[in-house]
Amino acid sequence: MANLGIPQNTIDVLNKYKFTFQKRFGQNFLIDTHVLDKIIDASEITKDDLVLEIGPGIGTMTQYLCERARKVVAVEIDKALIPVLSDTLSAYDNVTVVNEDILKYDIRALVENENEGKPIKVVANLPYYITTPIIMGLFEEGVPLKSITVMVQKEVADRMQTGPGTKDYGALSLAVQYYAKPLIVANVPPNCFMPRPAVGSAVIKLSLHEEKPVSVKDEAFMFKIIKSSFMQRRKTLKNGLSNSGIISVSKEKVDLALKEMGLNESVRGETLTLEQFAKLSDLLG
Ligand code: SAM
Repeated sequence: MANLGIPQNTIDVLNKYKFTFQKRFGQNFLIDTHVLDKIIDASEITKDDLVLEIGPGIGTMTQYLCERARKVVAVEIDKALIPVLSDTLSAYDNVTVVNEDILKYDIRALVENENEGKPIKVVANLPYYITTPIIMGLFEEGVPLKSITVMVQKEVADRMQTGPGTKDYGALSLAVQYYAKPLIVANVPPNCFMPRPAVGSAVIKLSLHEEKPVSVKDEAFMFKIIKSSFMQRRKTLKNGLSNSGIISVSKEKVDLALKEMGLNESVRGETLTLEQFAKLSDLLG
């Protein structure tokens, strides 16, 4: 099968199957071989790896993954794409296509059954409408993972990678950085996709920490504090935490904790590091 990263080959496949794009599934197919090479290189896949691809589309990146990996499992929600994939991937015997919603798919079972419970790699050009639930689901369910290399909206990649004191810093930055080390590896303009998305895109690699960068007594409570702190960005941390409705903590208790941490009582959540949130969580818990 011809390389689908070349635009005319993608057009030929779309015509052959009279495929119509489904906006509700976030379908923007990659048509740029340089970008595909970048994603594959960044993911550092070897013949030992089991790769989970989320949303293979017509199989463009899947072909590249099959060349490099031991085994590829590609989960695609759109059943109209299943016959297309069996055609475009017919040259490979190391791929399984699953017609399912990734948010309902049992990834832990996949890791157990196909990789002896050892960490896998996730690679995807993600459907942007569910970027956060997919990434957070992977982290929070404790799926054994080495890395997640994904195309996301540029603005979301920036939010994942940035640190304290910037406008993009927030709950997503802290959650991602608690579990992984983020690195934006490429910025990708709309003309690399068919159809063109309305937003810019970026490839980001999240390499899972072997050990968490901070230790905290109650992880779930820390994330509640983080969520509360960023719900009303303009408010001081003290007001944000006592008014959020997510946790129940008095202003006096927050005051004491801030004092103990050597922080000013008018400090805003957006200036705190992950380490400081962990400390605050331990003091308020
Ligand atoms: N990987 C292809 C490429 O790079 O050309 C397609 C990427 S496209 C941005 C996103 C893909 O995810 C589409 O094929 C879409 O049908 C699929 N998708 C959308 N929602 C999904 C879900 N909940 N579970 C699995 N696949 C989904």
